[in-house]
Amino acid sequence: MTATIVDGAAIAARIHQQVAEGVAGLAGRGVVPGLAVILVGDDRASATYVRSKRRGCRKAGITSELYHLPVDTKQAELLARVRELNGRDEIDGVLVQMPLPDHLDGREVTEAIDPDKDVDGFHPVSVGRLSAGVPTLAPATPLGVMKILEAHGIAPQGKRAVVIGRSDIVGKPTAMLLLHAHATVTICHSRTADLPSVAREADILVAAIGREAFVTPDFVRPGAAVIDVGINAVSQPELVGELYGDDPGRAEDLKKKGYTIVGDVHPAVAEVAGLLTPVPGGVGRLTIAMLLANCLQAARRRRGAPEDRA
Ligand code: NAD
Repeated sequence: MTATIVDGAAIAARIHQQVAEGVAGLAGRGVVPGLAVILVGDDRASATYVRSKRRGCRKAGITSELYHLPVDTKQAELLARVRELNGRDEIDGVLVQMPLPDHLDGREVTEAIDPDKDVDGFHPVSVGRLSAGVPTLAPATPLGVMKILEAHGIAPQGKRAVVIGRSDIVGKPTAMLLLHAHATVTICHSRTADLPSVAREADILVAAIGREAFVTPDFVRPGAAVIDVGINAVSQPELVGELYGDDPGRAEDLKKKGYTIVGDVHPAVAEVAGLLTPVPGGVGRLTIAMLLANCLQAARRRRGAPEDRA
């Protein structure tokens, strides 16, 4: 069997379009959704993520404000900024780019965000609402996983889903969304015994581990939908050659950047799975789209507009 390879960019483009239409629909009520992004320090990867998020906002018609604070910002100053943004009616989403510099307490900052503006879905109230199955803002990457399944007509109801990884930002919320979609869900982690045989029970297998090419064909039931959330930078040419042969795109990556991005799923899984998300070009493409969808959703909820999810 050769898997259908998911086109994350095409699915993301449709969601971007739906969000832009939803935002245009709110304009009739005089509402322009607003996102405030707080970036502390000069971490280059964080700055790149923030730029991409703001570019997405611009394209969708969502206003975005950036608060770029110095690396030595004090916890009290950061909390004061979050509270100020909580209090501003025209701001629907407050996002603090993680990770924060070591001297800052990210948990306390997350908990200071108004849950109704928690577009990352990391606040304990959002986590609790997700767990209780009441409307909430769920984390973007897990929402992206669900959108990919939906786009390919894979209804989780009645299926066996196995999520490898139990993090608060990917594994657990993905498992919760699959559960609410009526899958029978197993969560695996670093201490799961005989992981390949548990994974092989899955009709839907989600890998969110952070270890390159960890999920090999022996983890996969023939025909299963395999969703690869992993993003791992690999710089060893031997390993890249082992995984991708003489793929010119990968060789080009190594030459230009010194690394290539590899998922948690081994490329040979494409010979066993029914559906596979590539890395790059799969789940990662959906993350910003779903953040924007959350901004729209927050604006609709806060401002009393009808709520259909983009
Ligand atoms: P994390 O480190 O917080 O969690 C990793 C999980 O994997 C843990 O729960 C751990 O128990 C499990 N794990 C580790 N080693 C294991 C093993 N040997 N066997 C079984 N389970 C094992 O990571 P995270 O934040 O959940 O991210 C997971 C991956 O997804 C990373 O590669 C990250 O870069 C990527 N990610 C991608 C996106 C996206 O937009 N596509 C978003 C967030 C994270």
